[in-house]
Amino acid sequence: MSAPEAPPGRPVERTVIEHCAVATVDADDTEYTSGHVVVAGNRIESVGEGPAPRGLTGVARRIDGSGHLLTPGLVNTHHHFYQWLTRGLAQDANLFDWLVALYPTWARIDEPMVHAAARGSLAMMVRGGVTTAADHHYVFPRGSGDLLGAEIRAARELGVRFNPTRGSMDLGESDGGLPPDFAVESTEEALIATEEAIDTHHDPSFDSMLRIGVAPCSPFSVTTELLRSAAELARRKGVRLHTHGSETVEEERFCRERFGMGPTDYFESTGWLGGDVWMAHCVHMNDSDIEAFARTGTGVGHCPSSNARLAAGTARVPDMLRAGVPVGLGVDGTASNEAGELHTELRNALLVHRLAGGEKALGPRQALRLGTYGGAQVLGRAEEIGSVEPGKLADLALWRLDGLGHSTIEDPVAALTLGAPAPLTLLLVDGRPVVEEGRLTTVDEEEVASGARDEARRLSRIAAQR
Ligand SMILES: [Zn+2]
Repeated sequence: MSAPEAPPGRPVERTVIEHCAVATVDADDTEYTSGHVVVAGNRIESVGEGPAPRGLTGVARRIDGSGHLLTPGLVNTHHHFYQWLTRGLAQDANLFDWLVALYPTWARIDEPMVHAAARGSLAMMVRGGVTTAADHHYVFPRGSGDLLGAEIRAARELGVRFNPTRGSMDLGESDGGLPPDFAVESTEEALIATEEAIDTHHDPSFDSMLRIGVAPCSPFSVTTELLRSAAELARRKGVRLHTHGSETVEEERFCRERFGMGPTDYFESTGWLGGDVWMAHCVHMNDSDIEAFARTGTGVGHCPSSNARLAAGTARVPDMLRAGVPVGLGVDGTASNEAGELHTELRNALLVHRLAGGEKALGPRQALRLGTYGGAQVLGRAEEIGSVEPGKLADLALWRLDGLGHSTIEDPVAALTLGAPAPLTLLLVDGRPVVEEGRLTTVDEEEVASGARDEARRLSRIAAQR
């Protein structure tokens, strides 16, 4: 990786951030107590202790980061943006009851709704330090418009790096699946639309702002045929695979009854373990499941708040990390995690795993790694993002830690992960500011909020008319 070339006749524009603590999240967890980062174009040019090197040319902006911590931007590995319109419903249900309650409403979504929901979901995450977001969209009602296109448009408007996955469901209730028949597509429709999405949108380049993934929804909403064919399609196209796995005891029971094996063995039998696969949740994993994920390099999108909200259980993340499984964090859809933020998941992950596994189960630095480098690994982008290292893309978060919430915590990483949600002074994606002084720079937050509220009410009205 080399420094970016300047367009002919124009010097590369540099941004200098200095006098801040830096947690690089590189392989050695290198930290600087008062360091600097130089950004040139869309890349990180240098990082180190002390002020930036003297004599830099083309410095367009110099930021005094005193009282701040600079980290890699956060990476969200699992979400369902459309759920922004159905938050706060089915408040006391487990996963299956919650899904059955919500499917009929979700089956009425359309393109303007998904656009407004994606703007809301993304704005909430970006405001909290997310620079790369994955989404899993699997509800495609007939005649509802270009739903994946609506999400992609929203991500461009926000300026965030985006990994949307084209999801699908083809196992309706009458065939023994969980979703009602009206909420599913045919196997063939799902595969054709997924291939189209890849051909239309996928950008494999190093500094890509958009990578498509292939994402049949779950073992209880998808046929074995679709799982197998989707894996073949993704590998033929060179894109990644994503799904939900081992989320609840009910899913485990479903797999044992229908396939005669647990979810991980079922996934393995359909070609769904591998270094190009990541799965959300993975709560109910035995030792041999964890070993299979480690052996194959299959990644995990850990969603602690959603797992708690739906009482799904606690994923064995410390055991997974010890075994060498790549693990990132996920918000999950905001119908099962109404907060919709990722920076608070760092703290939630740490707390949940200490409750389950003791005071050494997960530390502040491990929590930060899950939310940054771990997420980049899971999305197959660890060469590009997830740590502050020269040559990587300039996706950076500058957290203010000298205010009321954090000024008495000497260790900045502990302040970020154990303390209250830290205010964000600056967030860069691809070298461009998307948050300044806690405010989104690319969209109007109030407009995003009212637009989403209007579409949520429209959805609720349409769903009530059935
Ligand atoms: Zn999910």
